[in-house]
Amino acid sequence: MTNVVELIERKKRGQALSPDELGALLRGFLSGDVPDYQMAAWLMAVVWRGMTDEETLALTEAMVESGATLEWPELDRPTVDKHSTGGVGDKTSIVLVPLMAAAGAAFVKMSGRGLGHTGGTLDKLESIPGFRCELPLEQMRAQVARIGCALVGQSPELVPGDKQIYALRDVTGTVDSVPLIASSIMSKKLAAGARSIVLDVKIGSGAFMQTREDARVLARALVRIGENAGRHTRAVLSAMHQPLGRAVGNALEVREAIETLRGEGPADLWALTLELGAHLLEMAGLAPSLAEGEAMLVRLRDSGAGAAKLAELIEAQGGEPRVVDAPHTLPAAPVVRPFTADAGGWLAEADARGIGDAALGLGAGRKTKADAVDPAVGVCVGARIGDRVEAGQPLAEVHARNDADAEAAFARLRAAFRVAPERVDAPDEPFEIVR
Ligand code: URA
Repeated sequence: MTNVVELIERKKRGQALSPDELGALLRGFLSGDVPDYQMAAWLMAVVWRGMTDEETLALTEAMVESGATLEWPELDRPTVDKHSTGGVGDKTSIVLVPLMAAAGAAFVKMSGRGLGHTGGTLDKLESIPGFRCELPLEQMRAQVARIGCALVGQSPELVPGDKQIYALRDVTGTVDSVPLIASSIMSKKLAAGARSIVLDVKIGSGAFMQTREDARVLARALVRIGENAGRHTRAVLSAMHQPLGRAVGNALEVREAIETLRGEGPADLWALTLELGAHLLEMAGLAPSLAEGEAMLVRLRDSGAGAAKLAELIEAQGGEPRVVDAPHTLPAAPVVRPFTADAGGWLAEADARGIGDAALGLGAGRKTKADAVDPAVGVCVGARIGDRVEAGQPLAEVHARNDADAEAAFARLRAAFRVAPERVDAPDEPFEIVR
């Protein structure tokens, strides 16, 4: 039997554990032989002392082995996957998944629900009447073989170990550790079986990582795990100081994703979709270069193939495909009110975190895991940092259940938006690729 105290002591002194030791520790925790307090002590030692690349990969692989893993031998298409470290207004998967399937990839996107100021793709999709995110594994396999994609909840059969470790990290102040975050994210990606993986690592107030340097460190850790496990893996660093696109809130975001597939969406959302998609197409061998990959995605959007694939996906998962042609049939809030600028000038801040909190307060997200979300409510942002604004101009539109909720959202938005009297330039934050 492993001497757990010794493993904790060694990590406390900054020493590396072997893959066998890490595997034994994780198995012991999952079987109940290693109690929570010992695992928590070891996790805290990792927070302070970190882990080597070899340890991080070994922990990731031990987590993968805690449950089922997927392989896709029946598919004649290359498999791709994507993960975003989470943000406000991030509906990229709803645009990217159907486009990639239309391009010839197989894309099983397992997503989460929203918690706190960040939204979750599942909540967004469930604003589509009838849409089901929980599919039995066999049904999901058949769907992917037939139409090339699925947008589903994280399968409970995959990486049960991550769920248990995460629950313990959540209550022991041990979430903010790069190797622990990286192994948690990558264990789920490796178990889902895709050969090419792109990671969207967000930087800014609405994100996990507040600075570019922190985001780089996480991105490098994620890419190293993927590459060391034999998968094509790249990360794209993208800004999350202001929301992505305009819409923040479930049905509002689905609507914006549909508009984007029709060529009528916001430029930043389309640019991110192109960047992530082009890397996946190149890694998967479906495009000879990034430029060709981008051109392919533009063609698939302009021909309507991406929107048609989204309708197919919605129908396959029990939803009402008509929403793609008639997005106004999505749930709508009874009260829609503008939030206006008090004075003219230049928009200096449209703080992603604050706007996410306003949407959360309206009922678009969850404060605790047990909360229900309201599909219809949210905030549509009407200006971007660097825009010239006039006094009285709407900076956002609040979609609320009632006037009192709208007033409460206005108070939050007042703190999130700042109009400066002097000129402010639009931020220039090109995507940064980590490979
Ligand atoms: N997301 C995950 O899946 N795991 C973490 O540890 C943090 C964010």
